[in-house]
Amino acid sequence: MARTPLIAGNWKLNLDHLEGTHTVQKLAWLLRDAKHDYSAVEVAVLPSFTSLRSVQTLVDADQLEIKYGSQDISQHESGAYTGEVSGAQLAKLGVSYAAVGHSERRQYHGETDEIVAAKTKAAFAHGIVPIVCVGEGLDIRKEGRHVEYTLAQVDGALKDLPAEQAKDVVIAYEPVWAIGTGEVATPADAQEVCAAIRGRLAELYDAELADGVRVLYGGSVKSSSIAQLMAETDVDGGLVGGASLDPEEFSKIARFKE
Ligand code: PEP
Repeated sequence: MARTPLIAGNWKLNLDHLEGTHTVQKLAWLLRDAKHDYSAVEVAVLPSFTSLRSVQTLVDADQLEIKYGSQDISQHESGAYTGEVSGAQLAKLGVSYAAVGHSERRQYHGETDEIVAAKTKAAFAHGIVPIVCVGEGLDIRKEGRHVEYTLAQVDGALKDLPAEQAKDVVIAYEPVWAIGTGEVATPADAQEVCAAIRGRLAELYDAELADGVRVLYGGSVKSSSIAQLMAETDVDGGLVGGASLDPEEFSKIARFKE
């Protein structure tokens, strides 16, 4: 099955709503000038919650083909959960994607596999596609346990998820040692784990479903490294952090085929 590549920019805690709309606008102009074919490579940005409404307004007004999503989603529907943002609230803002279980949330906010699974379900309940982030730290990699560790995270995130939803999930393999460090995994490293993730999806569901799921690589992706990563059979896109803040660089990443 042909999987449409996805290049998604995780802005993390950067850019206020004015800077955010500026950045999306510039990105859109660059991609328009380059005659970017969005049906061949999907492009998405994940701004802070505070920017989503402005980005929605811009995307709607200019009929941009850039998609947008959130960096997190609450596992709860509503109620006494101060600071949380629900799937219903995000769906009202037209988000297509929600990152779930990013390593920074696992590390700084104590997100367990159980919470990641609940957030994955919360996203699907509101028609939002979760980008489930998995990946090992340096200690695990040095011990050679990176595949089993990452697959256990996949098992945890997808626990009890029905096939009708799992077929649409996006999984991002993001080795923690490569995030924000400038140390990009080799294409072979990325392929090894992305292929193992697809294999696990085939075991959990079936080969056809696994064949349709997009598995992204994330970790210090740049325009200079994306093409080699994308040449790997099981790498279907990139989750891009730092480099997504620069529209010129991010547009080059999105145009990796050229
Ligand atoms: C990320 O935040 O998901 C990420 C991959 O960051 P960076 O590209 O900066 O390593």
